[in-house]
Amino acid sequence: MKQVYLDYAATTPVREEVVKEMLPYYTEIYGNPSSLYTKGLEAKAGLDEARGRIAALINAEPGEIFFTSCGTEADNWVLEGVADSLKDKGRHIITSRIEHHAILHTCEYLEKHGFEVTYLDTDGEGFVSADTLKKAMRDDTILVSIMMVNNEIGTVEPIKELAAVAKAGGALFHTDAVQALGNIPVDVKELGIDFLSVSAHKIYGPKGVGALYIRKGLRISNFMHGGAQENKRRAGTENMAGIVGFGKAAELAGRHLAEHMEHLSGLRDYFWQQIQKNISGVQLNGPALDKSGRRHPGNLNISFDYIEGEAILLMLDAYGISVSTGSACSSKSLVPSHVLDAIGVSITKMNGTVRFTLGDFTTKEDIDYVVDALTKIVDRLRELSPVTGQEGW
Ligand SMILES: *Cc1c(COP(=O)(O)O)cnc(C)c1O
Repeated sequence: MKQVYLDYAATTPVREEVVKEMLPYYTEIYGNPSSLYTKGLEAKAGLDEARGRIAALINAEPGEIFFTSCGTEADNWVLEGVADSLKDKGRHIITSRIEHHAILHTCEYLEKHGFEVTYLDTDGEGFVSADTLKKAMRDDTILVSIMMVNNEIGTVEPIKELAAVAKAGGALFHTDAVQALGNIPVDVKELGIDFLSVSAHKIYGPKGVGALYIRKGLRISNFMHGGAQENKRRAGTENMAGIVGFGKAAELAGRHLAEHMEHLSGLRDYFWQQIQKNISGVQLNGPALDKSGRRHPGNLNISFDYIEGEAILLMLDAYGISVSTGSACSSKSLVPSHVLDAIGVSITKMNGTVRFTLGDFTTKEDIDYVVDALTKIVDRLRELSPVTGQEGW
């Protein structure tokens, strides 16, 4: 059966060129990069090259890149590290309601440990405004953390303006750029940010490796304690193959960024046109597809009236198609998606929401196949639905 993967925001396949560069680090170049003999130096050279490649992709210096075990660790490290370092200066942190759980749950942890967190509202498309941030800034605000690109609805936040507001108010600025890297241009100097989190497996690299950019001159408390790796700032023997793969994936992402963006946004716009043409009662969540660079080029988040997103997901799976619903209903919360809730989508509509995220291996034939399957599935589910056509949707 045909397989169509449309969940690139969850993870991406590892490119063959990337795997090829990783493999020798399991077999021949197995030295510990901290060792001083030739075998160690060989590994160290691979580590340095990868660091340089990631730095180049975000216009940073190699010495500002610190490898971690994932994007989640980078997010945890920066929030806890800044909180611990600056707790005598202030105990107020600002973030948004639509962040990834790696940020939100770390903020909840910090709230239990004497910090106060303000969760900024967004507008109906998920944008955090500089004005809203300005109003929330206080004398004791030590850190502002706003994501660069939202993972559910694709909103590209005005990071440059937000970072400027944080700076003017005397706070440091962090951005979770996991969904941004490789999908939109990212330039830490141009944006004026202090910290940035990234992850390899969202850019066609391996799982289990990420990095935190820490602007030169800034020091925050360590998160991992142990050896002197990563310039004594992140202990633990490096995931060499993973890091080398991350470096290669970053190099390829930088080289192909323009065509990647064009490929994705072209297919995405075609996909949405076809859905609108074939299926009634659909609503796009997040920024309009106006190509102004304010939405992730490969993200479509759609609510289907009268039916459950999870039923669509399972029926698409039977056609070999992989998608995701807003976010699975967690036992802790009554709303299926904190992001859709923040932008004002009703719970009924939220339950009928599916996220499609396109990637480099997506083709027009894939989209045609998915539209065909989706049309049949939605028709079938609406025939079965007791609420089809009822008011209140
Ligand atoms: C995937 C993701 C993360 C977590 O990265 P991992 O490497 O999977 O831990 C953090 N933030 C955002 C926005 C993400 O999409």
